[in-house]
Amino acid sequence: MEVTRTVPVKLDVPGERRDDLHQTIEQFNTAANYTIDHGSDDNGDLILNKSTIHDEVYHDLRDETDLPANLVVRAYSKAVEAMKSTVAEWEKGNNRPLPSFDEPSAVYDKRTLTINDEYATLSTVNGRVKADFVLGEYQRSYLNDDDYEKRMGTLHYRPDEDAFYLHIVIQKEVDQRDGDRVLGVDLNLKNVAVTSTGRFFDGGELLWGQNHYFRVRWSLQDKGTRSARQALRRLSGRENRFVLNRLHTISRGIVEEALQHDCSYIAVENLTHIRDRMDAHDDQLKRQMHNWAFRELQEQIAYKAAEYGIQVESVNPAFSSQTCSKCGHQSSTNRDSDGWFGCNECGYEVDGDYNAAKNVGLRLLALPEGKRPSGLGNSQLALKSGTLNVSDVSNVHSSIEFERESTDKPTPSGVGS
Ligand SMILES: [Zn+2]
Repeated sequence: MEVTRTVPVKLDVPGERRDDLHQTIEQFNTAANYTIDHGSDDNGDLILNKSTIHDEVYHDLRDETDLPANLVVRAYSKAVEAMKSTVAEWEKGNNRPLPSFDEPSAVYDKRTLTINDEYATLSTVNGRVKADFVLGEYQRSYLNDDDYEKRMGTLHYRPDEDAFYLHIVIQKEVDQRDGDRVLGVDLNLKNVAVTSTGRFFDGGELLWGQNHYFRVRWSLQDKGTRSARQALRRLSGRENRFVLNRLHTISRGIVEEALQHDCSYIAVENLTHIRDRMDAHDDQLKRQMHNWAFRELQEQIAYKAAEYGIQVESVNPAFSSQTCSKCGHQSSTNRDSDGWFGCNECGYEVDGDYNAAKNVGLRLLALPEGKRPSGLGNSQLALKSGTLNVSDVSNVHSSIEFERESTDKPTPSGVGS
């Protein structure tokens, strides 16, 4: 699988060359906007073909700007990509204005940018500019990794810092991790995440953060004054960062857990179900927040797992909290209101979220040929100690059979929670 990362690196630009970068960014945007202005055919339709656009604007842009040839190409290409997504929105019936470019940034490729260990050279309207990197530990860890190919970058100017940044795009090919061991992960509001290996990622702090900010948010929203609105905007940035940091810690922990137990797959529940499972009494803001947090957490897990060649697969977890992970018996009375699981059939007793995490993993194991990941083989579920095969769980297969057929049907509200 291919892993792509964007690493932002601050540039130390010689004082006398800063204007060359400013000019380059400005002319880059001028070129992209010119392309939009001249990017329609005789019928008024946008031209989405790069070689047609090239014939239309390239020579004008070479005459009227000081940009080197390859920056002109990047500028009209950026405009074409933006027109393509605008047309896609129009085709969906969405109202969108024509793209326009005023963000202080310019796109570089291998011909206009050379990336070295400690510095880069960039083509500008006035020859090449050499800029030293200001590197932190995070940046070094990626840039010193020779497995990554440094493909291209985007030059950004940040007015608030009065500084230039190069967002370096790096890419590497990662072999899919061998093996057929699966880590099951249950996502829920109480613990946030629980693994089939029995690791609990506490959500107390996270939920406290949300609730604290929610309270402030509500009181500010009620006021509706200009200063309250400004405070609200600042707050949402801080609130998001708070939750994001917590989610990063959790997603890192889940991937570490998978590595420690030699898992090549992580099974998570698909998000439609999480949405269905929300308490109908929760207010909308809270629901949106939880939706966002779970989606973010899954994306982070997939993002981090990819670096190790670990595949993340989502399964439908309906009834995963009512089903016994030991004998497969399913009943709504298996789980009490405190979240404790006690099987009516075999008497198995365990934390309810841990039981659900095992079921989520078992769902992936039990997928039939054709639906299961091709490399999964005779899969086994990683447990606190040892592993479990689907065949070890009598009766579980029948409930999964039912599950598979009902994938697209709405789930009765309340089940699984
Ligand atoms: Zn049981």
